[in-house]
Order: sequence, then C-alpha cells, then structure tokens
Amino acid sequence: MRVITPQELLRRALDEPESPAGAMRVTEFLTAIPAIGEGKRDRILRELHISPVKRLGGLGTRQRDALRRFLDARWPELEPRAGRSRLIVLAGPTAVGKGTVAAYIKEHHPEIHLSVSATTRKPRPGEVDGEHYFFVDDEEFDRMIAQGELLEYATVHNASRYGTPRAPIEKALGEGRTVLLEIDLQGARQVRAADPSATLVFLLPPSWDELVQRLVGRGTEDGPERARRLRTAKTELAAQGEFDYRVVNDDVARAAEEVARLAR
Ligand code: 5GP
Repeated sequence: MRVITPQELLRRALDEPESPAGAMRVTEFLTAIPAIGEGKRDRILRELHISPVKRLGGLGTRQRDALRRFLDARWPELEPRAGRSRLIVLAGPTAVGKGTVAAYIKEHHPEIHLSVSATTRKPRPGEVDGEHYFFVDDEEFDRMIAQGELLEYATVHNASRYGTPRAPIEKALGEGRTVLLEIDLQGARQVRAADPSATLVFLLPPSWDELVQRLVGRGTEDGPERARRLRTAKTELAAQGEFDYRVVNDDVARAAEEVARLAR
C-alpha cells in the first residue's frame, strides 16, 4: 500500500469537496499526521486562522494556501527520482542528533548502505574499527587524500579530520543501492559540488531553544565555549536553505523514517 502525502489528501479534498476526503475535519486531518498531537494541532489551526470545525472541502482560498504552505515547509513532497542519484547526504547543526538518526536507519533499513567514514580521531569506548569509522593516523589520511580515495573530507570542530571513502559508495551505487552519508556541513557542500544530483537533507532541531538545551544542557562547558558553540550552531542553521529537504528531529524514529522515505 502506498501511503499518500497530506498534500495529496488535501488536493483530493479540494477537487471533490463531497468526497470522504472533502468531508474530513481539519482537526482529523492534522492529527492523522504522525508528528502532530492535539496540542500541536490546536496551535497550528490558531496560527493559520482556521476554525477547528472546518472541513477540508470547505476551506477558503486563503486558508487552503496557508495550510498548503505549512505542509510544504514541514513535509516537502518527494520529487520523482528522475535525474537524482541515490546518494543521500544527512547534515545539520552540531548536537541536532544526526548520529542517532543515522544509527536508527542503519538498524531498521538494512537496504540503505550507510557510509563508514575515515577519521583521525581516536576511537571512543565501544567504537569498532571498520564499523563506526575507519580509524587512521594523519599520515594515512594524507595518503588517502593524495590518492583521490576520498569523495569529500573536512576538519570538524577544529580538531580531527573526517572523510568519506569513495570506493564502497561507488560499489553500492553500482549495485543500485541507496547510500546515506552522515557528515558535516562542509562535507555536504563538497558532495553537492562533486555530484549535483545527490539529495541533501538537513536535520533541524524542533526549536532553537531545544538546540540550546542540547548544546549547553550538560553544563560541562564554560561561558566562552558555550557562546562559541551557539554561534557555530547559528551559522550552521543559516545553511539550511542550501538543502533539498529539511527534516525536523522531534522524534528519532519519525525523523529517521522520513529520511528513509526520501531515500526511496
Ligand atoms: P564524531 O566525532 O562525534 O563521531 O563526529 C563529529 C562530526 O563529524 C559529526 O558532525 C559528523 O557528522 C562529522 N563527520 C563524520 N564523518 C564525516 C565525514 O566523512 N566527512 C565529514 N565532512 N564529516 C564527517
């Protein structure tokens, strides 16, 4: 069964106001979307100036447009894959939870090939070489760059270097598989330059306050360090317009499923 997008349902309702879709109340329509509960639904309706008793088929022009714009901003409809490669890049600001979302996809969508990066950082407890990263020294990293073995690479957080090995990706793409890269913003830009048909997905925090919480909540950083991180997050967030899709990480499983859908 193909699940239809909220936009498609709205189109049907407006085309045929007498149909079951047209008779659906806006309240029902919104809560049928997984990320929307009752509280959020009421907030959205207030913001869009739509009365909760309205049915989809009975929305005025301005209300339709407002609802459509709202849906497009949060759940962009998938473009046909024509002209797009199966290379998906997941990036986003520091602390937004990219790693967790990628790990969820790895566990639940084995059909998607998750790229394993090379890095010069030391393994953390529990990290396995060749599984989480290929842990290499500076000399080896330099060699990989010189041999053209990396699709992209960058120094992240002014500390270690990270890069995407090209060969496994080309192999997986050659087999018709979808490939997911979880990399930083600089890397995402390099992939776009190398392969303009790659799909770039930007993971967003549910709100700015939430990101601040995640960044400074641990209380382990002092004032200047905290300020620096927040500045970085602001510049990172400003890059979201460069991406094809934006996915809100309000819930790891939901966000991961949305990314996996984009990868189809
Ligand atoms: P961590 O050291 O916490 O595993 O990762 C730090 C950052 O490095 C994350 O933001 C992650 O997205 C980024 N990163 C991991 N692998 C790569 C890669 O291959 N290329 C680039 N450009 N960034 C990467």
